[in-house]
Amino acid sequence: MLSKLRPVGSRVPLPRLEEEFRVPWEADYLTQFMGSGTEALSAAVAFAVGRKAGVQAPEVLIPAYGCPDLVAAVVAQGCRPVLVDLEASTSFMDHDRILAALSDRTVAVVAVGFLGIPERLAQLSNLCRHNGVLLIEDSAQCFPPACAGNPLADIAVLSFGRGKPINLMGGGALLIRHDHSHEARPLLQAWLLRKLRVDFRWRIKRLMFNFLMARFPYFVLERLPFLGIGQTRLHRLQAIHRLDVPEALFAAGVNRFFSLERPQSRYVSALKPMRAFGWESLCDIADPAVSQDDPILLRFPLLAPDPAIRDKALEALNAAGIGASAFYGRALREIDGVSALAGDGEDPCARDFAARLLTLPAHEDVTSADIKCVADVLFIVSGQAPRVTG
Ligand SMILES: *Cc1c(COP(=O)(O)O)cnc(C)c1O
Repeated sequence: MLSKLRPVGSRVPLPRLEEEFRVPWEADYLTQFMGSGTEALSAAVAFAVGRKAGVQAPEVLIPAYGCPDLVAAVVAQGCRPVLVDLEASTSFMDHDRILAALSDRTVAVVAVGFLGIPERLAQLSNLCRHNGVLLIEDSAQCFPPACAGNPLADIAVLSFGRGKPINLMGGGALLIRHDHSHEARPLLQAWLLRKLRVDFRWRIKRLMFNFLMARFPYFVLERLPFLGIGQTRLHRLQAIHRLDVPEALFAAGVNRFFSLERPQSRYVSALKPMRAFGWESLCDIADPAVSQDDPILLRFPLLAPDPAIRDKALEALNAAGIGASAFYGRALREIDGVSALAGDGEDPCARDFAARLLTLPAHEDVTSADIKCVADVLFIVSGQAPRVTG
């Protein structure tokens, strides 16, 4: 079969001048576009450091399962990343472990949304306020950010890279709550401003990106080892820039995001019976206090009953042409180069999470036949016969 359903990613939009547009966080946050999500996060950390200028060897709390860009953004500001283990079988940092990790040197806590599921901002904002540290919502994987409905985070971060909710082939944003915007202004001005030009080159690149998302091109792409598709690596952050993004492009991206039909609810019903065989759906952990609506998932995340079944499912789904993924594949501290920066630690829950996580494509090109195929494969690897459905 020369066909592969890509694991993640939505098509890049074209700017459309007539699109009317207001961001849902406008009343509470100032929006500053940045060169990438990592740059935006690092800028947020720089702001946190500046507010606690007396602190020697500042520290930033991040989850022990996550994107290595978190580490890059923190160390670029001369801070030490302190990895906080997860609450078992969730993507959330464990509350008691956060308390244990907080110190006089802590300048910020990064609340990282996971594949569309925001962190528990209400809890975290109380904790941060009591301890005088900045709460940064990393919403690179979630749109809109949870703070759009409820301005609990001091600063929020968005990403417009490929594989993120809104794909502009790069860029990010820093959302600064209005009570901080005056203080943040001089810091922002110090970073050079680049312009995102929607020129001929950009348009050709967009056509290529969009073409490569189809099943046959993606099948080929995945087999080119030098591209390293889907690999997780720690990249040092070189520099921070502000970005001037044409409003019509951002507006087209946001409007496109909200207009897409997604397979999420069909997965929920098709995979419900898997619970009886020990599979858990991470959709169930979303905190109703944060978002009134069901969050829009970037990928559909499941936890397998055990690591062996996860690995079997990964292999069988990919053989069937479904871009299922283990996502980062390992706990953050186990990614090359991270422990040298973050120090040693155990993170048993993050390791277990990494070993049992399976993500399924949740983008607009997933068909009902794909979902039936996923359900059948998961039944078989769980030792069950596939169900006969109408
Ligand atoms: C992708 C990602 C980032 C970095 O965003 P880039 O735009 O790729 O630099 C930061 N945090 C999380 C949680 C991410 O998933």
